Amino acid sequence: MSTSSTSGSARQAAISAVINHESSAEALDYSGTSIQDLFNANVFCKPTMKARLPKSIYKSLVKTIDAGEKLDASIADVVASAMKDWALEKGATHYAHVFYPLTGATAEKHDSFLSPNGDGTAVTEFSGAQLIQGEPDGSSFPTGGIRQTFEARGYTIWDVTSPAYILENENGTTLCIPTAFVSWTGEALDKKTPVLRSMQALNTQAQRILTLFGQTDGANVASTAGPEQEYFLIDQNFYYARPDLLNAGRTLFGAPAPKGQEFDDHYFGAIPDRVLSCMLEAEREMIKLGIPVKTRHNEVAPGQYEIAPVFESANIATDHQQLVMIMLRKVAAKHGLACLTHEKPFAGLNGSGKHVNWSLGSSSQGNMLDPGDTPHKNAQFLVFCAAVIRAVYNHQGLLRSVVASAGNDHRLGANEAPPAIISIFLGDQLTDVFNQIKTGAADSSIAKEPLTVGVDVLPPLPMDAGDRNRTSPFAFTGNRFEFRAVGSNQSIAGPLVAMNTIIAESIDYCATQLEAATSGDSSKLNGAIQSLLSEIINECETIIFNGDGYSDEWHAEAEKRGLLNLKTTADALPALADPKVIALFSKYNVLSERELESRLETYLEQYCMTVNVEANITIEMAKTMIYPAASRYQGDLASTAANLKAAGIEGDSTVLNEVTSLIKTLLDSITALETATAGCGADCMQDETRYCCDNVLPAMLAVREAADALEAVVADDLWPLPTYQEMLFIK
Ligand code: ADP
Ligand code: MG
Repeated sequence: MSTSSTSGSARQAAISAVINHESSAEALDYSGTSIQDLFNANVFCKPTMKARLPKSIYKSLVKTIDAGEKLDASIADVVASAMKDWALEKGATHYAHVFYPLTGATAEKHDSFLSPNGDGTAVTEFSGAQLIQGEPDGSSFPTGGIRQTFEARGYTIWDVTSPAYILENENGTTLCIPTAFVSWTGEALDKKTPVLRSMQALNTQAQRILTLFGQTDGANVASTAGPEQEYFLIDQNFYYARPDLLNAGRTLFGAPAPKGQEFDDHYFGAIPDRVLSCMLEAEREMIKLGIPVKTRHNEVAPGQYEIAPVFESANIATDHQQLVMIMLRKVAAKHGLACLTHEKPFAGLNGSGKHVNWSLGSSSQGNMLDPGDTPHKNAQFLVFCAAVIRAVYNHQGLLRSVVASAGNDHRLGANEAPPAIISIFLGDQLTDVFNQIKTGAADSSIAKEPLTVGVDVLPPLPMDAGDRNRTSPFAFTGNRFEFRAVGSNQSIAGPLVAMNTIIAESIDYCATQLEAATSGDSSKLNGAIQSLLSEIINECETIIFNGDGYSDEWHAEAEKRGLLNLKTTADALPALADPKVIALFSKYNVLSERELESRLETYLEQYCMTVNVEANITIEMAKTMIYPAASRYQGDLASTAANLKAAGIEGDSTVLNEVTSLIKTLLDSITALETATAGCGADCMQDETRYCCDNVLPAMLAVREAADALEAVVADDLWPLPTYQEMLFIK
């Protein structure tokens, strides 16, 4: 790599800026304030509420938060006033209703606490009404036709179950209130509302199973989520020198670096100092916001990392996950880094996912997907587990559709992420138990043998009953399921809504069967469970696959089994219009047909917009950056050849010919891409999505191929874009 600049290009400037980088971030010190004191420091959490609210009001709030009881709106004034006092003490000047539109991003509308009296003085004000409801003019958010701009009213509604928090800025702080965002007719315009509805549905159905097992304390059953976030960090100078990263979040050009990830030397390697200092600061901010971040490590690709929190109730985990992405980006910028959450920022290297660990549990039952040491004896666990298997089997298409996006298409099915085929990994122990159930009663569980390493100084470990499987999209991982197909840039709300609802439906089915078979006689329960479980396993076992999901054999085998293989977003999204899916969401009041339809429209539109933006950037970069570099080099080569000839020396024209031919390929491919994009604009969004997928994307790829081939031959000092090697390895 050359660092001397002859062209003074943005690329060369970026390289020297990176090499001369000096941290300007202030050093943080934990020796004075420990992390346990920082935890929740900026959250209006239960201990803060308890200290600041009258007892009766605190109790009433907790009932809604913990037990899902109806919110008593009459307490809002008192809560708002306590919240305001707390926020003012924390330096707040404004409050913001935070909401989660269908873009998958986080939106916020800020209002000042300041209220002029009209006589030149002012007070601060925050009423219960202002806490409960806001009316952002959110008419420009995608709604898939639910709300026309002329009927633009949309309301934000306080979600009391997700705590308010203070967002800090160097120049002031803001009280943030998580809210649901609905139209004036009460239809969901956001990602949060269906999460809350689906959690309610899951609780209702789970209670019926618990009742059959004599567990009637009614403790709220919540779905729990632990999302692992993968992301890349590269120097900001490179980011700003690449219009593709800046506008599309991924590189649309770039020849592979001579050294990629083949040595696996980055995976779990020592975290580079500059990156670690960024992580420490980001985590500090997250801890103050009550996000229980736990794990950090290097991922497989160079420049790739992961952060994972301890699991929480699904709704809070979703809000926190949004904040994790925001904080990573914000703090990275402070450290001169760009955080890339795109699913595939770099071709040829692993992309990023967001594994969503899912379970269900209650305060009295704990984690209801914990099998214990002898799962064959744990009938309640087996019922819930079988319900999950049945749900995934029946709704493969839906699960695939909720992880469909333009970005995730580059990842799913590549040999690094689970395939687009939805299947379940159960592991040896559970597979064995269910096999026994299939043919009769289960009377044994494969025991967990202690793990012996053969070194006396190392302690013996209890071995896990099953190995891990990294290639399965939906894996049982000991006491939860891990949905691994979710993309790193997505909100986890959609996947959680789907999981909660399909499993609620499946639990409903199980409860109905068991209630009918026992009709109140608990002595019949075991027999009823045995026949229910064997029926479910017989019907749904094709969804279980413990082998290598990356292999070609699996694709052939899955086809034989009749499993769906929806390869692209264009194939997957229409599953949302499946009558089975419409009926599912309507039945459990999670999404009405109209709400679902509006989501489908919105997601199709997002896909097409993304592809179109990428196509436009591809054309622009190819024309204004890559072609000029290539033709300059061609000019150099041509004049050298002419000079040699004039001097009577016979030159070699191989490179000139190669460059000339690649330039022709490049120009032709640009024209083809322009023709392809001109063909966009179908009336029906599904047709448009199909068109973009089948015509625009391949045309973009052809431009890239020509450009990347040029990158490999054009003189390095003329090349305008930071290369893969530079972005991934210069820190
Ligand atoms: P791995 O990379 O081995 O999958 P991690 O520690 O990175 O493991 O992530 C595991 C995630 O699973 C964590 O976020 C953890 O909190 C979460 N998890 C553990 N138990 C549950 C549960 N009962 N419900 C939901 N998530 C859970
Ligand atoms: Mg994991």
